[in-house]
Amino acid sequence: MEAKAIAILGATGSIGTTTLSVVRAHPSHLRVAGLAAHSRWRELVGPAKEFNVGTIALADPVAAAEARASGAFPAGTRILEGNAGLTEIACLPEVAMVVSAVVGTAGLGPTLAALRAKKDVALASKEILVLAGKFVTETARASGSRLLPVDSEHNAIHQLLRDKPSADIARLVLTASGGAFRDTPLADLKNVTLAQALKHPNWDMGPKVTIDSATMANKGLELIEARWLFNLPTDRIDVVIHPQSIIHSLITLTDGSMQAQLSPPSMAYPIQDCLLFPRRLPCPAPRLDLAQTLALTMSPPDSARYPCLGLARAAATTGGTAPAIFNAANEVAVAEFMAGKLHFISIAELVAQALAALPAREPASIEEVLAIDAEARAITSRLALALAR
Ligand code: MG
Repeated sequence: MEAKAIAILGATGSIGTTTLSVVRAHPSHLRVAGLAAHSRWRELVGPAKEFNVGTIALADPVAAAEARASGAFPAGTRILEGNAGLTEIACLPEVAMVVSAVVGTAGLGPTLAALRAKKDVALASKEILVLAGKFVTETARASGSRLLPVDSEHNAIHQLLRDKPSADIARLVLTASGGAFRDTPLADLKNVTLAQALKHPNWDMGPKVTIDSATMANKGLELIEARWLFNLPTDRIDVVIHPQSIIHSLITLTDGSMQAQLSPPSMAYPIQDCLLFPRRLPCPAPRLDLAQTLALTMSPPDSARYPCLGLARAAATTGGTAPAIFNAANEVAVAEFMAGKLHFISIAELVAQALAALPAREPASIEEVLAIDAEARAITSRLALALAR
């Protein structure tokens, strides 16, 4: 069997580097045909050599020019640039699967192009479904390409739903760690610092998603994603706090029986599941060791502690552009908090104000959603001034 050729958009981030570790573990099943990053071209030199990658792309044209001039890449390496370069990597004829892990909305165009070119997509970028879930899922359906979720919760649900008729599925249950302030007294949340917010109990992730985990805005975004991936209304998707991050999600079947997917908190598991689907091979990450005591707990999230979760659920239920507004406002609010301009508890308040200020509507195109995204960012930045600490 010929090795499956993968293109990685967002190759220098944590999903990208974990994807490379999975490919490294399965050289006869997987190979890398293209690597794309925003601007950190030096971090692509090693992987380009190790995996013998013929084409790379850098979203930033200045970085692409530096990379070409550097002579650091093997002779003959094609170095593309800009959005067009990312799209070309995603649509390379030999590529069978695209790992879409670019932060923010920059991956949207290349991901849609990949789906139209009948490539399977392993989706890690949250924004793509939150902003354009309707357009992305319609495109995948029309072209017959597979959309496989990399996010651990959605990947768990995808595993659990395989080969089950939809009539058997009653509810989905997303697990959440509860983040850095799960056990902090509510009264103390007002004074928590950035350094405290960045200490995630289980997962080693980027700063934005770690703070989103502390507010549970992350779970809110995942709720919106789940609605599109699994085509279920949000009132059939629950969230439960599971501090150990071992149960990655659960489903409730029509008869009331529940099923769960368990693995250690390592992204190698869901990434490998996407890359090799439907085949299973040993994962390079450590396994659960049941020779040790394993205590698993679950409890409902406290709405007073996690107001962002309720705001996301309301936005998901409203639909249209509301999820895009939630996402944009949250990104601005987290940036303000990280810059020291906003208290932690003001993140949710700012998001609520932005959602109230911008009425949602049904978008006719992705361009319209992107315009709303920009408008929501501008409005949130203005509203942030009044909340500044
Ligand atoms: Mg997740």
